[in-house]
Order: sequence, then C-alpha cells, then structure tokens
Amino acid sequence: MNLQEVFDSYQENIAPTYTKVPLVFVKGKGSRLWDIHHKEYLDFFPGWGVCNLGHCHPKVVSAIKDQAPKLIFVANNFYHLAQAKLAKEIVYWSYPAKVFFCNSGAEANEAAIKFSRKFGKGRYEIITFDNSFHGRTLGALAATGQKKYQQGFEPLPAGFKTVKFNDLEAVKNALSDKTVGIMLELVQGEGGINVADKDFVLALRKLCDEKKLLLIIDEVQTGIGRTGKFFAFQHYGITPDIVTLAKSLGGGLPIGAMLVKKEIADTLGPGMHASTFGGGPVICKAALAVLQAVQKEKLLANCRQMGEYLKAKLLALKDKYSIIKEVRGVGLMLGVELNSPGKVIVEKCAGQGLLINCTHDTVLRLMPAINVKKKEIDRALKILEEALK
Ligand SMILES: *Cc1c(COP(=O)(O)O)cnc(C)c1O
Repeated sequence: MNLQEVFDSYQENIAPTYTKVPLVFVKGKGSRLWDIHHKEYLDFFPGWGVCNLGHCHPKVVSAIKDQAPKLIFVANNFYHLAQAKLAKEIVYWSYPAKVFFCNSGAEANEAAIKFSRKFGKGRYEIITFDNSFHGRTLGALAATGQKKYQQGFEPLPAGFKTVKFNDLEAVKNALSDKTVGIMLELVQGEGGINVADKDFVLALRKLCDEKKLLLIIDEVQTGIGRTGKFFAFQHYGITPDIVTLAKSLGGGLPIGAMLVKKEIADTLGPGMHASTFGGGPVICKAALAVLQAVQKEKLLANCRQMGEYLKAKLLALKDKYSIIKEVRGVGLMLGVELNSPGKVIVEKCAGQGLLINCTHDTVLRLMPAINVKKKEIDRALKILEEALK
C-alpha cells in the first residue's frame, strides 16, 4: 500500500474515532520512528506513554519471539509460568498485594470499581477529581472528571462524585455514608500534567484509614518508572489499597493490571470477575522483559537525571519565550503550559521530525522514553525552540 491507499482504507473502513496526524509509521527503534517515506522522527511521546523503553526494545522483542512458538494462549482457569512470574515481580516492586490481569487501563479501573463495590457491601460511592482521566468504558468514564469525554453517553453509571483536585475540604464535603473509596492519578496525564500535593495525598491516606475507605491510585500513565520511581505513589511514602496499571507494562503489547492490598484481595472470589485474554503468556513475558530492563539498565536513575535535565532546559526556554506560562511535572512526565493553544507548536515540531503531544488545549506534553539519551533531548529541544520562535 502506498500512503494514499493507507489513508483511503482508513477513511473507508475504520471507525473515525481518532483525530489523526497524517503520518504512516513503518519502523521504530528506541526514541526514533520512521515513516513510510523513510523520514526519521524523534519520538518524545512514544505511544501515549506506552513505550516507556522506546520502540521495539530488544529484550521485549526477544521475549515475544521466544514465547510465541511455545504457547500463545492459556485460559485463565489453568495455570502458566509467565503469569506466576510476572505477578511475583510486580508485587516485589510495589507492596504486599495480589494482582488481577486484564488488557487495558480502562479495564484495570473497571476492576477497581467492581472490587470497591464488592468490598463496600452497600457502600459504593467513589470520589474522583476534576480533570482526571480513567478510561472510556462506562464505569471508568463516569469516574473521569472531564465533561467533554462524557457528553452524549449518558446515562453513566451512578456512584461517582467529582471534586476539585488537591482540595481536602472538597473531599471531606463529598463524603457520605455510601462512600467506599477515593480514586486519583498522582500526576494527572490527560488533565494537563497536574501533580498531586504531598500534604493532600498524605491527608487522603489518613482519611481513608479513618473512614475505612479504599485509596485507589490510577498509575496507568505514571507507572513503571515514568516519574523516576517505579510507581508515582513511592514519591509520597504511602501505600495505596488499590493500584491500576496498563500503558507501559507490556512494552507495547496490551496489558492491564489491578493490584489490591493482600489483606483484602480475596474480596473478589472465583467467578466474580474475569478477563478472557488477561495475563496471557506472550504479554507476561514481554512485561517481565520490561521490568528486567528497568532494573538492569538503571532506567529509574536515567529517568530522574534526564527528567531534571529536560525540565531545567524547559525552564530556561520559559525565561526566553513569554508564550510559556509554566513548566511542571515529575521525572519524564513533563508539561509546558502555554498562553495559547499548543496545536500549532505540535504540528511545527512534527514537521521538523519531533513528536510531542498537546493536552488540555494549551499544555505541551513531553514523555520521552525513560531510556532517552541526553543528545536526543538536546536535538528535541532545538526543534522545540525553533517552533516556539
Ligand atoms: C490512558 C489512561 C487510561 C485508560 O487506558 P486505556 O488502556 O486506554 O483504557 C486510564 N487512566 C489513565 C491515567 C490513563 O492515562
């Protein structure tokens, strides 16, 4: 297929649910991507945060190649090795918990919502936050604190109250005898890179302990090293009751996971929740390769160092260009808030071979792979500065 035939097929045969950038990619390696015309791009927003290790990490590729001829699928009423190993590894990196495997972030959050309702025994309300994003399925959408995603899909499932982010009083005012949990991202990704205050999160933990509520942390975007720690909650010194994961866990393959604190994990017993594909052998092997690479290649340290470097450089750009209002974020999850819409900057950058994202209209989002190199950051900054000019 040539470029036009690809566009034509999409136009005719694929549901038009995405705002498209007219680029057709054929190859990726680390932080680089190549389009159908062999033009090279620097990817500073790899797969919406999915490719934390860049594209086609060799360890992930060989894990898939190694597993695929042996066994691709095992139904979840049997056992297999890779799921056993992966769950053990995730729990090792997090806290004493049990894992439920599924296929996406929304599904992981649905699992968390269903878990909470079962746990609540009649209590079912979950408090969520303005500008949050938890996914597109109905439950996760009801939890999402952004009207623009919900409009036209009503009625949404009941049982969610959305309040102002980082506002403890607002949370307290929303409590009722039906409240069972509080659900949040510690760095709101789609909502514009808004970081949760430490005092706020510590107070939420205390509140949850006092009222026997579940603290549910959505780490679908922040998990697996994105913020310079394995999980974002580790910056806060808290232990959540539930953590949801997806995006970067499978190194590019679809996987979701819900972690539940061990003491309460048996709330969902046999037959109460399920996923046909969840935690299959190929994906679990890929995820194991991701976790090993994070450890062996010291990527948490690289993420912190490169994150500080990139942030400092972006702050320097802020001093130079009045179009930049604020630079914020943690690790390599950075937002550059502009005084005007960011779309034109994103397009200019793409034209010059740099892929970034704009969220919430005015926030440029930079989330390069956590194994990004300094010289790649320098190249990206050059392109970004030209676009800002
Ligand atoms: C992307 C995202 C989701 C939804 O994940 P899907 O895999 O697209 O269902 C949920 N929560 C957060 C924080 C996300 O960034």
